[in-house]
Amino acid sequence: MSAITMRELTKIYPGGVRALDGLDLQIADGEFFALLGPSGCGKTTLLRTIAGLEVASTGSVSIGDRDVTNLPPGQRDVAMVFQDYALFPHMSVQDNIAYPLRIKKMDRRTRGAKAAQTAAELGLSQLLERRPGQLSGGQQQRVALARAMACHPSVFLLDEPLSNLDARLRLEARTFLKRLQRELGITTVFVTHDQAEALALADRIAVMDGGRIRQVGTPTEVFRQPANTFVAGFIGSTPMNLIHATVVDGEVAVGSVRLALPEHAHGQVADGENVVFGVRPEYLDLSSEPVAGALSGTVAVVENLGSHSLVSLDVPAPAAGDPAVSVQAVVPEGAEPTPGAAGWLVPRPGRSLLYRGGELVVAQAQPAVTV
Ligand code: ATP
Repeated sequence: MSAITMRELTKIYPGGVRALDGLDLQIADGEFFALLGPSGCGKTTLLRTIAGLEVASTGSVSIGDRDVTNLPPGQRDVAMVFQDYALFPHMSVQDNIAYPLRIKKMDRRTRGAKAAQTAAELGLSQLLERRPGQLSGGQQQRVALARAMACHPSVFLLDEPLSNLDARLRLEARTFLKRLQRELGITTVFVTHDQAEALALADRIAVMDGGRIRQVGTPTEVFRQPANTFVAGFIGSTPMNLIHATVVDGEVAVGSVRLALPEHAHGQVADGENVVFGVRPEYLDLSSEPVAGALSGTVAVVENLGSHSLVSLDVPAPAAGDPAVSVQAVVPEGAEPTPGAAGWLVPRPGRSLLYRGGELVVAQAQPAVTV
């Protein structure tokens, strides 16, 4: 059992920076778990606190049924892969992989055999005699993973494991990492600031902000039902449109335009309340003809993204004199409008969300969202 439990974890660095702020989190045994958030939100501090490289100011960390809060890193049964891989430049690949086994005082023959076996599992057999300086970035990353795997830890901790790789290699390494984690079944926590990477790899994601967790959920949950406007704006290749509006007669009023209230918000908001209407660019259909219940505006920018384009529409602000609101929509290849043209954006049923005070308005029994 290597579930990880953090209770009321706080880390205050000398100088007073509160990097973790009373954080509660449970990671299940065997889970591939992502810590996601903007720079400085406390991801690395949390990972290092699980590893024992940082000492919690207050609160506790347990791995399985062991409270490891006060244990040094070597007694936690975790292996960490650092962002820069931290390989020893003067050692061969084989010696790098075998190093943690040497520290554990395993005899030379056994550790050599184990290192060779792990290297074979990661496709490194041909490279055992090379030094790290003679390897590509992707190969170095595999050596770092092999070194972590060789001692069969109960937990893997990966700090931005793909960030040193170029875009193409990154995609390959991502698939490789996901397959490896599935095969090994070892509880794995990885830090990333790349939301696409977190969505692609993780079983569950914790979205962090200012030393706190803003939402924990599966990739589908954080993408489809962001719990607050912070998560809504952070998750997604193109950020969710978050449009300030008012509830009028049971509808969402953006200036003179009335949009249907999202299903889950019926009965949850009162007339006159200020809300934020959220809809992803992927779930707005663009029409070149007037449509009732659509946001109308002028096409300002069209960005070609290959199989589709991102269209920015300037929608007149609700209050006279305010700047226009920019709303983005994804349109398929071949349906790109011309800048300057008029456009009408229709939210797809069941795909819009409503926020009040920054938090998602949730009905008692929320219907499942289906694709
Ligand atoms: P990044 O994505 O940029 O690596 P992060 O989310 O991993 O950021 P942390 O490195 O955990 O964030 O830092 C959290 C906060 O703690 C930041 O404000 C950072 O400046 C501060 N911090 C980190 N390490 C120390 C330290 N050793 N001493 C003082 N403050 C620190």
